[in-house]
Amino acid sequence: MQSFTPPHRVLMGPGPSDVSPRVLAALARPTIGHLDPAFQALMEDIKAALQRLFNAPDHACIPLPAPGTAGMEAAMMNLLEPGDRAVVAVNGAFGGRMADMAGRAGATVVTVDHAWGQPVDPAKVEAALAEAPTKVLAFVHAETSTGVRSDAATLCGLARKHGALSVVDCVTSLGGIAVDAAAWDADILYSGTQKCLSAPPGLAPIAIGKRAQAAIAGRKEKVRNWLLDFNLIMAYWGGPDGRGGGGRTYHHTAPINALYGLHESLVVLFEEGLQAATVRHARMHEALAAGLEAAGLELLVDPKWRLPQLNTVLIPDGVDEAAVRTHVLNTWDLEIGAGLGPLKGKVWRIGLMGASATPWHVRLCLTALCEALAAQGVTASASDALAAVDGALV
Ligand SMILES: *Cc1c(COP(=O)(O)O)cnc(C)c1O
Repeated sequence: MQSFTPPHRVLMGPGPSDVSPRVLAALARPTIGHLDPAFQALMEDIKAALQRLFNAPDHACIPLPAPGTAGMEAAMMNLLEPGDRAVVAVNGAFGGRMADMAGRAGATVVTVDHAWGQPVDPAKVEAALAEAPTKVLAFVHAETSTGVRSDAATLCGLARKHGALSVVDCVTSLGGIAVDAAAWDADILYSGTQKCLSAPPGLAPIAIGKRAQAAIAGRKEKVRNWLLDFNLIMAYWGGPDGRGGGGRTYHHTAPINALYGLHESLVVLFEEGLQAATVRHARMHEALAAGLEAAGLELLVDPKWRLPQLNTVLIPDGVDEAAVRTHVLNTWDLEIGAGLGPLKGKVWRIGLMGASATPWHVRLCLTALCEALAAQGVTASASDALAAVDGALV
């Protein structure tokens, strides 16, 4: 065997995003024990930072030791028992995954289906909630498969009104657009590290509110997933005086170095300021959208529901979309994403997440994309696109 040296890439797909040198350096610091007092101090720091990040001062906030999907799995497995009713809004790939998981937890699942590219419709959700008593309402705040934001405040409000617990997928939203557990009165929110937090993949920050904790404590049967059982995991993460805690008992060996990376990414984010980071994502999106338009390209999503951090660009007629992705990867070391499900072959997905949301990234992406289109005989002017970016960034 030989050591693996990855190529240098610029990551502008649906995640992972670019990881800053500061975070990479943090990952390389010496491994210490997962019960070391110094490590326990780091754990407390991360918990407090996640409470700030989700604006969830009354939630238990911890990073689960697996990627974003583990947050989804933890929410479903901890809240749902066989026979419970779950309403799941599906407007893309990740809503579909939530529905699958709720079914595996034994729930009776009612999906509220939408065309891909549309936000979740609160009226349709309310109709489903009104049909029968419901334990959980689940939806995706930022649908990475389509580039659509849904109205989390309204949907969480509907869950409250109908006595259901809300589960909000914030994997792509957290750090890129406003996430506010307290204002939404949301019950469980979860995210991932490799989208707008710009840390490597492999951890799932989760926030679990008081009503959700009470529901978990009142379960009739044990949580069927051992690793993500909130009662067990909080005996380690809860801390000396912690919620749900017997205080730092061994549960699993925490991914020590990955947590150094998450911690550093949070330090970086709070140095910039949450509000400033949100504004930066919005500005970079406006610059990219202006550039795309000047180059003759169109976005899939209505401006009202567009995610700044995930741009779904319609593929012009006659263009070989995979050849474009290959061109930008080989020529510019640039990764952009393909469409999923019904959008396969119809869109590219361009991420402007975390450290990948900079003017340099926007300009590089437009230059590379126009060149790749020109190689297929499609006129897309890079100079017009870059002039539009300059106009948007003044
Ligand atoms: C990426 C993503 C996930 C899954 O996260 P993984 O880290 O890939 O497990 C879930 N939901 C949404 C909205 C995502 O964008």
